[in-house]
Amino acid sequence: MFLVELVMSFHVQPRMWIALGLGLAAAGGNVLGGLFIVRRNWSRRYLTYFLALGAGFMLAASLIDMLPESIRLAGDPALFYVLVGYFLVHFFEHTVAPHFHFGEETHGAEMRLHRASFSALAGLGIHTFFDGVAIASGFLVSGWLGMVIFLAIVLHKLPEGFAISSLMLAGGQSRRSALLGAVLLGAATEAGVVLTGLLHGVVSYTLPISAGVTLYVAASDLMPEVNREPGPWMAILVFIGVAILFVLHKLVHI
Ligand SMILES: [Zn+2]
Ligand SMILES: [Zn+2]
Repeated sequence: MFLVELVMSFHVQPRMWIALGLGLAAAGGNVLGGLFIVRRNWSRRYLTYFLALGAGFMLAASLIDMLPESIRLAGDPALFYVLVGYFLVHFFEHTVAPHFHFGEETHGAEMRLHRASFSALAGLGIHTFFDGVAIASGFLVSGWLGMVIFLAIVLHKLPEGFAISSLMLAGGQSRRSALLGAVLLGAATEAGVVLTGLLHGVVSYTLPISAGVTLYVAASDLMPEVNREPGPWMAILVFIGVAILFVLHKLVHI
């Protein structure tokens, strides 16, 4: 029955099938990121580029596209839900979870304390669930917004999968469990797409919440990692991420 309901609901919004497919692609990004930990000989240099491009593009997408569209849908109360989204990530990733950050986990002692890797997995799982909610909410509004949000999400999916696998390995888990962590993050993303597709009446709440989540991930999770890298190149890549959004606006969005 659930499946019938799902098919019916997505039939109303054919764009939601695209959202479902792109949600799977984003989930695949998590798994691929995790594989960088399992296959130790893969070069990790490119992962940091995604971190920087993702930070710039996500920040621009949340302020230039998601925020105005949220206000158009929900009026001034949208800003309250943006705040809710922002602190939702802060609460689950950094309050409930005692230790989480993007990049390679090097604090083994902290990770082995209090089953820290499981609380970090749960916290990051909430965030990746909202990655999926964001993609679906975008497509519920328009194909353009859906694509922009998908790009914002997919750009940070590799570093996300990498971070969770590295964190679980540092917490004393096996390689298989470390990869499973990345798979679970991907599954949470697709679950977010499906659930939002089913409850499409709530987009005036899910879009502003997703805007807040995206703002947090860009400005408070990714930027600090970018700023830890020495030299100007990572910082310049952030600007390139911002520029890509404006180029897309010029070329695609009329
Ligand atoms: Zn750490
Ligand atoms: Zn994410």
